[in-house]
Amino acid sequence: TDPVAFDVVSEGLAEVHRRLLPVTDGEVASYIPQLALADPDDFGIALVSMGGHRYEAGSSRTEFTIQSVSKPFVHALALAELGLDEMSRWVGNEPSGDAFNAISLEHGTGRPANPMINAGAIATTNLVPADSPAERSARILDALSAFAGRRLAVDEEVYRSEAATGDRNRALAYLMHAAGSLRTDPVEAAEVYFRQCSVLVNTVDLAVMGATLANGGVNPVTREQVVPEQVAVEVLSVMATCGMYDAAGDWLVRVGLPAKSGVSGGLTAASPARFGIACYSPPLDRTGSSVRGVVALRELSRRFGMHLMHHP
Ligand code: GLU
Repeated sequence: TDPVAFDVVSEGLAEVHRRLLPVTDGEVASYIPQLALADPDDFGIALVSMGGHRYEAGSSRTEFTIQSVSKPFVHALALAELGLDEMSRWVGNEPSGDAFNAISLEHGTGRPANPMINAGAIATTNLVPADSPAERSARILDALSAFAGRRLAVDEEVYRSEAATGDRNRALAYLMHAAGSLRTDPVEAAEVYFRQCSVLVNTVDLAVMGATLANGGVNPVTREQVVPEQVAVEVLSVMATCGMYDAAGDWLVRVGLPAKSGVSGGLTAASPARFGIACYSPPLDRTGSSVRGVVALRELSRRFGMHLMHHP
């Protein structure tokens, strides 16, 4: 460890945390009843270096469901199994500029625009090879756990809440099935996706997961090669253009890092070969990303010169 760098990073996170804690903008997601129960005052920040060191501020160990932050990691699992060419036959790599739950399917083929919107995520999830939906869910939980470096579990209550209110996602699955871009049973396909969204994580887990992508697919804490390096590169590329819902362009300009946010208020970003960084704060902006998370990353990006296009 470099004690000087440790202090600089820890103080940076603590200072941004202290300053943004009073921010009360945004709304906690309520379209899934269980998500509405989140505490708007929870605010955690975590950074994990390529050496596996963890830096934390605030409620970085509070658990929440991963929601859409699962999408790039399941995309990585599917890519590792299928390869980019086969994967691209089923799900595109183009930013849609649409909301996360938009009905955004390619004319003619029914192919969803990218794996970060719901339609593309449902298709991607169901490309993970398995003999049954239960086995597919188990494989996904194993992969998310390997990315996080610890055994994760599903929040069954959130899962039930998600399944009870998930008609729009089922509808997306049915549309893709009708168009031939989803080969599994649509109802089962949505269930596997709901379970994936309901996996419990904390902010440190999300930082380790981002750090694993930043580290060429090797988890910097456990040293396990979770996915091949090429897959990590491909996933980070899609995160850079499609990871922040319909605000991905503005995010790339202002923060300059591949990232993924989710409706429970989690957000993970990766600085290739440097670190993974994550935030948790449930109130969301109009595009569906955490208000505090977005501002924190903007400020930390400037402070630590994280922008990918920045001249070192
Ligand atoms: N379970 C959520 C849904 O698909 C995840 C959405 C998100 O985090 O963007 O409705």
